[in-house]
Amino acid sequence: MDNQKIDLLINQLTLKEKAGLVSGTDYWFTEPIKRLGIESIMMTDGPTGLRKQADSADALGLNNSVKAISFPSSALTASSFDRSLLQKIGTQLGIAAKANHVQVLLGPGINIKRSPLGGRNFEYFSEDPLIAGELGKAYVTGVQSQGVGVSVKHFAANNRENQRFTVSSNIDERTLREIYLAAFENIVKNAQPATIMCSYNAINHHLNSQSQQLLTDVLRNEWGFQGLVMSDWGAVADHVKALQAGLDLEMPGKGEASTDEIVEAVNDGTLSEAQLDIAVRRILHLILSFQVQSDNQKVHYDLAEQHHFARQAAEESMVLLKNQDQILPLQQSDSVAIVGALAEHPRYQGGGSSHVNAFKITTPLEIARADDSNVPYAPGYTLKGANVDESLAADAVNLAKRADKVIFFAGVPEQDESEGFDKQGLELPENQNALIKQIASVNSNVVVVLQNGSAVTMPWISQVKAVLETYLAGEAVGEATWNVLKGVVNPSGKLAETFPLRLEDTPTYGTFDASLEEENYREGIFVGYRYYDAKKQPVLFPFGYGLSYTTFDYHDLIVNEIDGHKVEVKFKVTNSGKRAGKEIAQIYVANHVSRIEKPAKELREFKKVVLEPGETEQVAVTLPRRAFSWYNPDTNAWQVDNGSYDIEIGQSSAEIRLQQAIQLTWTKFKGIQVTENTYFADIIVQPKLSSALQASGLDKLLAKLQESPENAQLLENMPLRSAVMLGANNEQIAKFIRLANQ
Ligand code: BGC
Repeated sequence: MDNQKIDLLINQLTLKEKAGLVSGTDYWFTEPIKRLGIESIMMTDGPTGLRKQADSADALGLNNSVKAISFPSSALTASSFDRSLLQKIGTQLGIAAKANHVQVLLGPGINIKRSPLGGRNFEYFSEDPLIAGELGKAYVTGVQSQGVGVSVKHFAANNRENQRFTVSSNIDERTLREIYLAAFENIVKNAQPATIMCSYNAINHHLNSQSQQLLTDVLRNEWGFQGLVMSDWGAVADHVKALQAGLDLEMPGKGEASTDEIVEAVNDGTLSEAQLDIAVRRILHLILSFQVQSDNQKVHYDLAEQHHFARQAAEESMVLLKNQDQILPLQQSDSVAIVGALAEHPRYQGGGSSHVNAFKITTPLEIARADDSNVPYAPGYTLKGANVDESLAADAVNLAKRADKVIFFAGVPEQDESEGFDKQGLELPENQNALIKQIASVNSNVVVVLQNGSAVTMPWISQVKAVLETYLAGEAVGEATWNVLKGVVNPSGKLAETFPLRLEDTPTYGTFDASLEEENYREGIFVGYRYYDAKKQPVLFPFGYGLSYTTFDYHDLIVNEIDGHKVEVKFKVTNSGKRAGKEIAQIYVANHVSRIEKPAKELREFKKVVLEPGETEQVAVTLPRRAFSWYNPDTNAWQVDNGSYDIEIGQSSAEIRLQQAIQLTWTKFKGIQVTENTYFADIIVQPKLSSALQASGLDKLLAKLQESPENAQLLENMPLRSAVMLGANNEQIAKFIRLANQ
């Protein structure tokens, strides 16, 4: 964008006009300044479909919007682990936005799923920052390839819905950087998003919308963000403080009141006009960049084509969790009964601001009946409440008795899971759980198809033969589900989040939503599989898990250091089954070196391979320095410690197929400052200190203790000053310190 043009405009703007520009003119538009030819641009939700409200506007999706494709929720598409798929979804959303004259699409949502109770988990990708960052980046690239801007949200640490406007996420710096900021950092540095949406909450009691540290120091000064920061809808509490902190655009505006407060603040000296100009400049930059581009481009927008693609996206992502006796795919000869009201009234999208006015919903029941008009169906339960309806249940059980196989559609009803509030529990409604068990007692071939936004418990898991997780699959839910059940598509999705056995096992149990004002991130970096792995806590289904109708073998791992700061990992995957299929290989790194709290391993790369039966492909990935780093809050830097790391290749986080160690010595040792409190463990590992030990006479003492392994261990845990207890005198200690630090 032409800076001179922006300078010229800024020079012509009155203070009142500038003050008007830094708030939305209404719910979805920026303020126009007609006399200078500055148009408004439009923003619209959201991550999984265009929610353009033509008439009355609201943030929670209460009022209808234009017809658009409801794509699968991010919880589902994340399970594809497929960057190219997310880029295509972004591209389709960009096309939809452009065709509807929307300049900024409010997505993707990339917050970390810290608790499976998070009300908005369906809208987010993963419990793992690499997945959230990589898939988010691909999505952003797709949308922006169409000349439409994104708003990456919700920045940051917005991991619960209850009291989201005021709650303080209390997090230590290392956890914040490694878990909650990492995906944002990745996208900002590598995909240049047009805007970032600042979340409602506070971090460590600093409201995000007024946090200079977050919005300026980290986002701009450290990461080099060039775009605009807008508030989440209603996240600005004090507009002047927000502008000073680095928030550019308040959304939505408060009308005249928004303008007046800024004019007043400049007039009374609370806000400098130069500071206001910074925000105005970024807003003009956004308006001019996207206004021009969208006017200039013609667009091919075909809802039927997009629906078709939404189906493929869902098929690519569904996760087969259990398939005992290869009960799936269904055979032509099977006599199948369909049970569950969700087959007829599927839950295919989340509630709240991402709610789309879907173009064409295909239900699982109608698709099954298009194939076989006589397929028997019983709703079995009602979607209103959790109470068992005896007569509905009895009909379903009778039906189940007569069928070879029962396809049971189960899930979380919309009223239990939405933006704006957190979930109460992980259970499906009792009328569904009870009926699954009842049906499994009369029919041993039950397949459960799940429609839910985040992890659920499955008390009936041992009684059913198969489980297909379809999350919220978008408007093509019916076609996609049957294509997977029938084997037209071989499932290849894997869970981007852990499914725990019980809520009590989760890392945030007892602290999540416990207080109205504070959310204490006591589990630190131990989120999701990082926690379950470290605790060796059994789970229902681990992170990264998912089955296929074929099988895969892993072999021939080669690990090499390259260029002195990267690690190249190569291995082979063979399709050892009888059908073509896709496998998501996961590359984890285990740090055995650093003397800090650390997870057993962390996902550092992933790759999806497509293989014909018998075919082998070599996967080759390069792990950058960051894959071996941890964030040291004392130095404010990412640190790699010298020593041994394991490269682990997994089919899931719990199924490591190949493993190899590598020694890295990437960090030049700077020496340590020796004090009275330095431990012998740190002294004896440094050859450079041996002459100081000799000169001070401490070496003999150490040698004596090291004769016995127990004493040697004891010594490692003693600081220098305690050497007096071992017979050293203060002069010797002082001399050693002096020489060691020379
Ligand atoms: C949500 C945002 C959304 C905005 C506009 C807010 O309530 O948190 O995700 O983009 O509304 O609808």
